[in-house]
Amino acid sequence: MDYQALDKTYIAHTYARFPVHVVSGKGSLLKDADGKTYIDLGSGIGVTAFGIGDDEWIQAVTAQLGLVQHTSNLYYTDPCMRLAQMLCEKTGMKKVFFGNSGAEANECAIKTARKYAQDKHGIESPTIVTLKNGFHGRTVTTLAATGQEHYHELFQPLTPGFVYAEPNQTDETINLIRSSKASAVLIECIQGEGGVNVLDKAYVQSVAAYCKENDVLLIVDEVQTGNGRTGKLYAYMNYDIVPDLVSTAKGLGGGLPLGACLFGEKAENVLGFGDHGSTFGGNPVCCAGGVSILSRLNDAFLQDVKRKGDMVKMALTGAPGVESVGGMGLMIGIKTVKKASDVVSECIQKGVLCLTAKDKVRLLPALNIPDDLLMKAVQVIKDACNPG
Ligand SMILES: *Cc1c(COP(=O)(O)O)cnc(C)c1O
Repeated sequence: MDYQALDKTYIAHTYARFPVHVVSGKGSLLKDADGKTYIDLGSGIGVTAFGIGDDEWIQAVTAQLGLVQHTSNLYYTDPCMRLAQMLCEKTGMKKVFFGNSGAEANECAIKTARKYAQDKHGIESPTIVTLKNGFHGRTVTTLAATGQEHYHELFQPLTPGFVYAEPNQTDETINLIRSSKASAVLIECIQGEGGVNVLDKAYVQSVAAYCKENDVLLIVDEVQTGNGRTGKLYAYMNYDIVPDLVSTAKGLGGGLPLGACLFGEKAENVLGFGDHGSTFGGNPVCCAGGVSILSRLNDAFLQDVKRKGDMVKMALTGAPGVESVGGMGLMIGIKTVKKASDVVSECIQKGVLCLTAKDKVRLLPALNIPDDLLMKAVQVIKDACNPG
């Protein structure tokens, strides 16, 4: 049987795939079963932060594999503690909880916000404000947090306690926080799945200031935007705000499942022993991968991420069939005249892998993609955008 027939027979039909059967890769190049090479501008949805088979990452991960691959969180391991220390030292956050995915990182943040509201304010059934068009995961609670109705319809009843504000509408958002007596606000600074929509700085700062003045916890979902993606370690750093909770995952492990919830001062002691846990969370192999990624996200490297992003924007802005190019760093959304999925299909034929987000073509290349490969791929996208 060929790979498409096997997939059709044995894999649950919950998502559609592109017709590419990946067998190997190196850096930002992937090879399929027919030996065709692709330039990868999706990095497994922003996960392989340093590309495929990065030498330093492989070295870190395999060294840990040779020591111990799993302990559960009943015992101490080096990589887990080192990664937590790095995350705190680089962000000023106080403590870390490790899980395995973005949804779990958000679940942890939501549980923390709820317990904070109960402990501190005696609110038995707290409300959290999230933004319309956001995306926070696929669990029943993170779906409820996701302000997009079409994700909700099939899975009622969802977890109660979420209300949705229009992004970039400051007065409306603050009124909703007030009228719903919300205990927390959960935002993505750049809505990823929602179409690479960059929130206005003034909006984010106003909401953050209101939260601070009124003891409403500010949770920033950095699952997609985090770990260098936007040219800062975390996207909130572009906004000069200090969140109370930060969730992250995707690029953190460089390709292994790893998520984290970071707790600021107000939140660091909210969850106590027995309040939360995870069998796989803080896995030493995943955390060793995380250490190898995070240790390289220094200022010079992040500056280079920004430079590459600007280069892509410059090359595509105003090109025939390109309506607009937005995003930050190497998280880029391209509004095209042609249907985004048609542009992506055409790019695949020509050996370039990119993503879509709503009606846009989305690029999340490896942060260390070489300039020449990046610009070669951008030329292919440019040609595919041209309606001729
Ligand atoms: C991908 C994503 C999630 C969900 O992460 P999973 O690892 O798939 O659970 C949550 N929030 C944002 C912003 C994401 O982009």
